[in-house]
Amino acid sequence: MHSTNQSTGRFSVVEPHQVHGSVGPADPETLGPRVLELAGILQTTLELDQMIALFAKNIQAQLQIEGLEYENTELQQKYQFGSTATHRATYDLVLEEQRLGGVRFFRDLPFTGKELRQLENLLCALVYPLRNALSYLSALQMASHDPLTGVQNRLALEGALQREVDLAHRQAAPLSMLVIDADHFKRFNDTYGHAFGDEVLRALAGALSATVRRSDLLFRYGGEEFVILASHTSRDGAALLAERLRQAVNQITTISGRDIALSVSIGVAELAEGETAEELFKRADDAVYQAKEKGRNCVVIA
Ligand code: GH3
Ligand code: MG
Ligand code: MG
Repeated sequence: MHSTNQSTGRFSVVEPHQVHGSVGPADPETLGPRVLELAGILQTTLELDQMIALFAKNIQAQLQIEGLEYENTELQQKYQFGSTATHRATYDLVLEEQRLGGVRFFRDLPFTGKELRQLENLLCALVYPLRNALSYLSALQMASHDPLTGVQNRLALEGALQREVDLAHRQAAPLSMLVIDADHFKRFNDTYGHAFGDEVLRALAGALSATVRRSDLLFRYGGEEFVILASHTSRDGAALLAERLRQAVNQITTISGRDIALSVSIGVAELAEGETAEELFKRADDAVYQAKEKGRNCVVIA
């Protein structure tokens, strides 16, 4: 492996075929018309995926680049356009000490110093629009996630439930809903205090999310109530899942060094033909009440 890539001062060669550097804001007056034009194009969207796609398309129109990758680990975002190749130039994007993620360009031929400077200029067009898109994304994530447990919240459930019900009817595919309510949860608060109750809720959400499949959607619906939407899952599959969840929760035996006994009651319902989201929810919720009546720590199928 060899390369003609050279350090360009601000950038250093970390491997023969790799250039690594960081790009921040630039003085608009020093940027050429192409960069300003690109910045204008990028400002037309706040959607991160669209923005990176527009950026990739514009870069490829100006330079021979095989592919491009964008990654933001904090917000768990990764997009790739085109293909990977031997030669890579990687840049960390930073704006006023805020890390905006990294961009990696792939190319069959080594990058020349002139091309790298061109890429760096074009990256300058990305930083401000990118910061706006990331702020927008993190606001969306905050609005749809519960800060205590990190799982999706009730607002997110309302949207997802309607979407999943519509999709299941359209595809004639099974959809099941599980409503999960912690048993005698008030006792944790009353005995050990609210902060400990919060710890229990975190452990409970952790056990639930570790047990479901990737395609199952988990929400914190209320205080100590959770909902799972299991697409392409019939009543029998959902009953098995509910039983696995019940047992997983029973296995939580210590929290913050304290021995505890934790259990949940679970109601399960499969979407019936022509049923609405509200009707499905009502049947699953009624099943939880029956599970409580039956003595808790059990599953009832509607
Ligand atoms: P059951 O078995 O009948 O469900 O009994 P329960 O005590 O779980 O039921 P109840 O609905 O009477 O009480 C729920 C409790 O959950 C009451 C409330 O204090 C507690 N809770 C709700 N949200 C939170 C929270 O965010 N943190 C803590 N620590 N407690 C919470
Ligand atoms: Mg409750
Ligand atoms: Mg409860």
